[in-house]
Amino acid sequence: MSTISTITGTTADPSGDHSGDHSGDSSADRRADAVGVPRIGVLAVQGDVREHLAALTALGAEGVTVRRPAEVEAIDGLVIPGGESTVMDKLVRAFDLREPLLRRIAEGMPAYGSCAGMIMLADRIADARPDQQTLGGLDITVRRNAFGRQVDSFEQDLDYAWSDAALPGTTGTVHAVFIRAPWVEQAGPGVEVLARVSEGPAAGRIVAVRQGNLMATSFHPEVGADRRIHAEFVSIVRAHRLQQSGARQSPEREDTA
Ligand code: GLN
Repeated sequence: MSTISTITGTTADPSGDHSGDHSGDSSADRRADAVGVPRIGVLAVQGDVREHLAALTALGAEGVTVRRPAEVEAIDGLVIPGGESTVMDKLVRAFDLREPLLRRIAEGMPAYGSCAGMIMLADRIADARPDQQTLGGLDITVRRNAFGRQVDSFEQDLDYAWSDAALPGTTGTVHAVFIRAPWVEQAGPGVEVLARVSEGPAAGRIVAVRQGNLMATSFHPEVGADRRIHAEFVSIVRAHRLQQSGARQSPEREDTA
């Protein structure tokens, strides 16, 4: 388990090797600057925490680990990393994180889950042990270890439905790394499908989704240099933060002198 609580670093081009065009000088970025640097937590009870912190920090967000209930209250968005969802579920309950996480997600806090993180954000799991709980939020059914034991891990280039609002002008495929990954077996009408397996026996299976402020991928964008998926999430967090700060400054306040 990672012991780092914060990582600081420099802002880098989020596009990595597979560049789309977003120079960081959009009006959305300038507005976001007005409300400061978003603080994004990485659930740090188990899994590949360090890689997500590095990606978030490279994009100019403040990446912090989340292990305690108070830390859940102090973040603008949350990443749930890859790892082992059964262990993560047990530790989330043991560390008293379940209730605050459920509440913040219900309140609209943006969250992004990769692999085991996708399972944690799914409303339903197929073929899971009956005692495995998820946090939920995404109206999807995921199947754990869906690709089968023979093909534990594989890589594939996928078409990805980039959000024009979040990352204007971004195009191109994603080089996706799958490690004992789940797939999305069923998605409700409010769920946007962002990517599907492009070839092989699982072709057509859904492996990336978004529903409102919740995003999930079956694969691991935190490995490798391509930061576009994290950049998309950071943009969602920035937009939400801006909206919240607008709400806090609304003229309904009665205590203005
Ligand atoms: N198979 C794992 C699970 O069920 C997920 C694997 C991963 O996150 N790389 O939680």
